[in-house]
Amino acid sequence: MTEAADCAAPAPFRTYQLIFDLPVARRVSVGRFGCFDFPAGRYCYTGSAKRAFEARIRRHLAKEKRLRWHIDYLLAAPRVRMVEVRRLTEPECEVNRQTPGEIVVAGFGASDCHADCGSHLKRIGDAAPRRPRRRQADAAGEAA
Ligand SMILES: [Zn+2]
Repeated sequence: MTEAADCAAPAPFRTYQLIFDLPVARRVSVGRFGCFDFPAGRYCYTGSAKRAFEARIRRHLAKEKRLRWHIDYLLAAPRVRMVEVRRLTEPECEVNRQTPGEIVVAGFGASDCHADCGSHLKRIGDAAPRRPRRRQADAAGEAA
């Protein structure tokens, strides 16, 4: 019974994809990498962590952190909205290359890439339309 359980053990997650919306076009400074213009849209960033996988994802989702990776700078831009986090067992470059999309900034997030992906950030579509905001919510936001 233990053997069967061992066989059935799922492969651990090692690759993640951060799907997020940039509702408006924005110029973002990505540290020493440079300054780039990002068109509005839905983006997919593919990364991996062999250890502390969930901690890495929590870090990406955290608002307060030291900006270290290229993606940190973009996620810190105003009005960026996380849509979905995908967890996968396949190697990150394989996942990245199977994700259809357009490369906006060559080399973004691909410093450690040895598979010639071109970029680990892709623009995969349009951002979700803005939700109509209620006046009350606006007033509360201004008061805060
Ligand atoms: Zn790659």
